[in-house]
Amino acid sequence: MERWVEETLHRGFRVRLKADRVLFDSETEHQRLIIFENADFGRVMMLDGIVQVTTKDEFVYHEMMAHVPLFAHGRAKKALIVGGGDGGVLREALKHPELEQVTLCEIDHGVIDLCRQHFPEVSAGAYDDPRTRIVIADGTKFVAETDERFDVIMVDSTDPIGPGAVLFTREFYTDCRRCLKRGGLLVTQNGLPFLQAAELQQSVSYFRGLFGDASAYLANTPSYFGGPMSFGWATDNAKLRHHRRKKIERRHDKAGAFPTRYWRPDVHIAAFALPPYVRELVEG
Ligand code: SAM
Repeated sequence: MERWVEETLHRGFRVRLKADRVLFDSETEHQRLIIFENADFGRVMMLDGIVQVTTKDEFVYHEMMAHVPLFAHGRAKKALIVGGGDGGVLREALKHPELEQVTLCEIDHGVIDLCRQHFPEVSAGAYDDPRTRIVIADGTKFVAETDERFDVIMVDSTDPIGPGAVLFTREFYTDCRRCLKRGGLLVTQNGLPFLQAAELQQSVSYFRGLFGDASAYLANTPSYFGGPMSFGWATDNAKLRHHRRKKIERRHDKAGAFPTRYWRPDVHIAAFALPPYVRELVEG
């Protein structure tokens, strides 16, 4: 019997993916997790009925969540990833030779264990890198209590449903600000502006009350159905969003010009060119 798995994120819009082979389908401590093979997207993981990662297009989101903030910052030594249990953002972040330590704070160790097993190419050994530190905790608790300070914080969270809802609050962003070094940068997974407009608008309005510069950038991840994906942007250093392509190119060269499949200096710059329907959400 054919099995189709439905994504249940949006009110009036559903997508079904054919599960050619189901590799895991059960509850973890925090979420419902399913992993299956699909002809068009490769191996797919869904949490609570929402696509998180697919082996065929994960490079888009992971490269843009890591390289845009890290190259914009330009001299990050310590980074924090909140969520990110599939290891993809961690993999990309560790391509930056200047980074001395990356802390990954994930609430659900079940996600890390199952992704190690079923998505080894996504983390590609990043979990075992000597610069990696894994903390199993709620991200809100970690940023509220840690006395560490970070140059860049990347919030690679689920949507504001279930355990991820707290990662879209003013309290969480306030504590992220507390954990940033001077001139540090916060970027956040912020949904699809076309279908989740209120989510992006609210997050950026919180950023505006906390940081000198607040905005967003975009990237098209095919398996996040519904138009471009947005990444929230918050920092006190307004220059970070206005670098010229040449500067980003030089920084990529200095980092060894590692190969990429989506991010590149001109794509980086273009990602901040927001169409009016997104700009009005971000500019308030
Ligand atoms: N890129 C994906 C997306 O855009 O939907 C997100 C992928 S990543 C797997 C999301 C991770 O956030 C999950 O592993 C989930 O367990 C984690 N997460 C959710 N709520 C969390 C919380 N409060 N603290 C830390 N991690 C959390």
